[in-house]
Amino acid sequence: EKLLEIKNLKKHFKMDRNNYLKAVDDISFDIYKGETFGLVGESGCGKSTAGRTILRLYEATEGAVNFQGENVHAKKSKKDLKKFNRSMQMIFQDPYASLNPRMTVKDIIAEGMDIHGLVNNKKERTARVNELLETVGLNADHGNRYPHEFSGGQRQRIGIARALAVNPDFIVADEPISALDVSIQAQVVNLLKKLQRERGLTYLFIAHDLSMVKHISDRVGVMYLGNMAEVATSDDLYAEPLHPYTQALLSAIPISDPEVERTRERIIVEGDVPSPINPPSGCRFRTRCPMAMEICSKVVPEWQEHSKDHWVACHLYNDKYNEENKARQNLA
Ligand code: SF4
Ligand code: MG
Repeated sequence: EKLLEIKNLKKHFKMDRNNYLKAVDDISFDIYKGETFGLVGESGCGKSTAGRTILRLYEATEGAVNFQGENVHAKKSKKDLKKFNRSMQMIFQDPYASLNPRMTVKDIIAEGMDIHGLVNNKKERTARVNELLETVGLNADHGNRYPHEFSGGQRQRIGIARALAVNPDFIVADEPISALDVSIQAQVVNLLKKLQRERGLTYLFIAHDLSMVKHISDRVGVMYLGNMAEVATSDDLYAEPLHPYTQALLSAIPISDPEVERTRERIIVEGDVPSPINPPSGCRFRTRCPMAMEICSKVVPEWQEHSKDHWVACHLYNDKYNEENKARQNLA
């Protein structure tokens, strides 16, 4: 069952009179109810912008985000917007910067409940806050303190409690563990998984590498330079990556078995990521793709469902161009 339908979504930022930064440039995918959708790509690929545009923290340049069948970017009444704001929450990458240092933890957590009128009186408010603190592994005493008194992992727990306070259905977690010590990362991931099971939450989990989302995602999307390269179930993506970029990302993950590690082929992606202000024509990955063909500079590869639930944008999977390519190789 679809919870969100992202359709031809674009988010361009105006740089100056003639230039736009095409941070998100025509991406389409669905997020199913109760799943964790991992969104992966190098820094600057547009994944955070995509997450924020889906949440309506940014206005979309074009396209739609249908949440339970309603486009959150269409003109809405104040009441409807409030409903979306409550249903869709965000957990931020930097638990240091995302908590107001002048507010007590209690007030940080309760702010959303106050805005949305979810509690009737002070007693109820305190009880709810204390319950949330316990849910995320903190306690009532912590509520009267300030963010700087906590460790990074604890601050991320506070951020999670704040998101949960308004009973959301969907949470965008933007690299929620990247800034934390490795020893703390698993704890936060386990907490997120536990909350998902208990509350039927749906997550968009943003990360910069595939190893980080492997174990927590039901499905994964790989972004490159504002485009979606591939979307598949985690199992399919790791077992049978189709897009050359996904293949390269996967080949860069170290494998713990030294025998496999030694014999395995590494795909090296050369060069830098081009500018999203002036991206390459045709396939945006072509300047770094080891498989690039002539057609790749001329035609934007179509976003197509290659096999059930496995989407890819690459001419290698378009029979027409691939036949041409094979013919050319045979001639040469
Ligand atoms: Fe590489 Fe061409 Fe596929 Fe792009 S369309 S990923 S350049 S083979
Ligand atoms: Mg980011």
